[in-house]
Amino acid sequence: MSAQILDGKATAAEIRADIKTQVEALVAAGKRQPGLAVVLVGDNAASQVYVRNKRAACAEVGFFSELHQLPPDTPAAELLALIDDLNGREAIDGILVQLPLPAHIDEEQVIERILPTKDVDGFHPYNVGRLTLRMPLLRPCTPKGVMTLLARTGRNLEGLDALIIGQSNIVGRPMALELLAARCTISVCHSRTRDLPGKIINADLVVAAVGRPHFVQGDWIKEGAIVIDVGINRTAAGSLVGDVDFAAVAERASWITPVPGGVGPMTIASLLENTLQAARLHVAG
Ligand code: NAD
Repeated sequence: MSAQILDGKATAAEIRADIKTQVEALVAAGKRQPGLAVVLVGDNAASQVYVRNKRAACAEVGFFSELHQLPPDTPAAELLALIDDLNGREAIDGILVQLPLPAHIDEEQVIERILPTKDVDGFHPYNVGRLTLRMPLLRPCTPKGVMTLLARTGRNLEGLDALIIGQSNIVGRPMALELLAARCTISVCHSRTRDLPGKIINADLVVAAVGRPHFVQGDWIKEGAIVIDVGINRTAAGSLVGDVDFAAVAERASWITPVPGGVGPMTIASLLENTLQAARLHVAG
């Protein structure tokens, strides 16, 4: 193996320690602690794990957090009324509605109902628009976490040929906007892309966000490329694997993120950063 590991677990722990220090300073200065409201509709097992991890991270850094757990048949109007209430509450800086929502609820309508300065997931069209215009406010957590990790390589990203596999609203698209803002030349590939390996082989930086275990093969990768694996896939045996064939890709890449311990912890670290940023927007002075 020749690639260096981009350690998301260690980097996220450093970020949490730094945020904890900042929260202690805020509280010592007489300000209130940042507050996150987490809304979970239904009983999706994976969502429950994500929500538990996010609240544990809040507790670690000294944020206030509260959980609103609603039954799967909650009417959309009731969820929207809860968001209106949270939008108006002073102690709440961030509102996180865990996705996916049950099919009878329109996710876009729910996301748009969140006050943009409390949209700590960075999914509101206002925040995506600001990122598009290179004037970011609250940035989508997973791509933001990837940018933080990329900074740890010490590599200058300007002019790199970056290729993103996946065009979802929460990962692929905002990832492309982040890398464009960092002055990469970007390609966004998806399920209709022709000759994907023939494109990947020319990329200096590859971000895989497909949702297919071990999809990206070692011989697709240009020697010395940086490879970021966003995928989280559970095998039949219950372990977590990424979208990248780690062992084979690590033979050719210069840097690679592991799964687990790569992008996953960085997503939560970015959520904490966004909540602190939102708190600073809300608490003047
Ligand atoms: P998604 O299903 O919304 O999007 C997948 C994308 O992959 C689509 O744009 C699709 O066009 C593309 N795709 C599918 N098959 C393809 C193929 N054969 N060739 C090229 N492109 C193809 O998924 P998502 O929400 O963007 O998530 C992607 C993965 O990232 C999942 O494994 C998810 O669990 C994971 N994820 C991880 C984090 C994290 O914090 N690490 C956060 C969000 C999502």
